[in-house]
Amino acid sequence: MAKVVVIGAGSGGLTSAIGLQKAGFDVTLIEKKQIGGDCTNVGCIPSKALIWRARNYFEFCTTLHSLDSGYARTHMQPLSSFANNALHEVRKIVQHYQKEESPEWVKSKGIKFIPVEAIFVGTHELKVNNNIIDFDYAVVATGSRPLLPDNLDLSNISYYTNETIFTIKKLPKKLVIIGNGIIACELGQAMAHLGVEVTILGRTPSVIPQSDIDAQKVLLKHFKNVGIAYLQKETVNILQDEHSTLIQCSDGSTVATEALLICTGRTPNVHLDLEMASIEYDKDGIFVDQKNQTSNKSIYALGDVIGQPMFTHYADHSAKQLVLNILARHKSKIPFLQPFKRLSSFNNPRVIYTTPEIAEYGYNVEEAQQQFGKVKVLVHSIQNTDRQKIQSKEPGFIKIITAGWFGKIVGVVIVHEHAGEILPEFQRLIQAKKHIWHLRSIIRPYPSATSGLDALVLEWFKRK
Ligand SMILES: Cc1cc2nc3c(=O)[nH]c(=O)nc-3n(C[C@H](O)[C@H](O)[C@H](O)COP(=O)(O)OP(=O)(O)OC[C@H]3O[C@@H](n4cnc5c(N)ncnc54)[C@H](O)[C@@H]3O)c2cc1C
Repeated sequence: MAKVVVIGAGSGGLTSAIGLQKAGFDVTLIEKKQIGGDCTNVGCIPSKALIWRARNYFEFCTTLHSLDSGYARTHMQPLSSFANNALHEVRKIVQHYQKEESPEWVKSKGIKFIPVEAIFVGTHELKVNNNIIDFDYAVVATGSRPLLPDNLDLSNISYYTNETIFTIKKLPKKLVIIGNGIIACELGQAMAHLGVEVTILGRTPSVIPQSDIDAQKVLLKHFKNVGIAYLQKETVNILQDEHSTLIQCSDGSTVATEALLICTGRTPNVHLDLEMASIEYDKDGIFVDQKNQTSNKSIYALGDVIGQPMFTHYADHSAKQLVLNILARHKSKIPFLQPFKRLSSFNNPRVIYTTPEIAEYGYNVEEAQQQFGKVKVLVHSIQNTDRQKIQSKEPGFIKIITAGWFGKIVGVVIVHEHAGEILPEFQRLIQAKKHIWHLRSIIRPYPSATSGLDALVLEWFKRK
């Protein structure tokens, strides 16, 4: 039985280890912190648990206000204990996962588990606990960690990152977030929904600059409505005493705060003496080929450690393909096991869990223009659907990007409170290379967010 060592028990490592064990390999899983990695412990699970609790709290308070502001005033005070309790509940949820994904659970699957940091000492050897273990194949799934701004001296500054924010026992009155990406916006909005006064400082004119420009506008408007201040400012220095923190910006202005959260990006965990194993990498991650093989052909890498896109479903999907690729290589006589190629960012669904959610798939407008030249962009306004008119005033849209003479659908952007749930319909159309008139191939239930979407077909013809 070939020996495989998987380093890192996060989304990518766990799926790889379980799959490889099922495929008949002798698997050892090595983890230096918590099983479940970032997603379970300090990422997706706690952030989404917080987001949904905070959103409920906010909606409840808003409804109370709209019903009777006098009643709301008398009852908001006791309600604020719910806001503080939200983080306590989040920790309980994470603990629940930690109990489920225990070392015993891993071992019960027939996988050897070593709770320690691994480093390479050779092309087929790792050092763990002063022991050397050898392997036929290895999978590096060591994830990423917060990237801190290198222009700031943070040595004597107390601040939160995603690794510590969920430990807060009492919500601060004021929170400044340095960084304007997905994590900053998701966490910032959740905190604002819980009643914290949030300011987000970013380098670009808008938030989440990698997302669709119209989606950014909707989000900024929502931020304004819940009292989040977004300021395009570069932080150059931070002064702190025991009472407050003062952030100095490049334009000479200052922003005072009680608490500080830094969300300025992610950096891959590549500190495991990769050189010893002849694995090539740079600051953006380990280099891998289309089959997730590194420059050492016995060693594979996946997930955040190979760089963007950094998503749990991406790590998980890569792991499932990688298991089959190692199996195909090991049992090369099985004819149908052709190597799977890595997903491109085109094929990776991206959902931002703000209010409203932003979901994207395929090419964005600029990428589609580069790829196909002329493109047509069609927009279905969700706020004009009967569903939205009767239910909420939240803005929302589905933007469909088409290319070519037949109007092939090459990209989609959805802004809606359940955008992530609506996205798969469009994933299927784009993956199957369908054209715009396929929107008419199904009857959509009335009154749903997508009812009336087929009118875009006529719109497309009109513009032809
Ligand atoms: C706040 C936040 C919210 C997020 N929300 C989402 C979301 O909603 N949806 C989504 O798809 N993605 C989300 N992500 C991203 C997602 O968490 C990551 O993409 C995913 O966890 C990557 O999985 P991984 O297996 O590559 O790494 P990880 O899950 O980070 O696992 C890596 C593991 O390797 C271990 N390790 C590192 N070095 C060593 C070593 N030398 N020896 C032994 N063990 C080692 C680490 O301790 C860690 O447990 C979020 C991330 C953050 C920070």
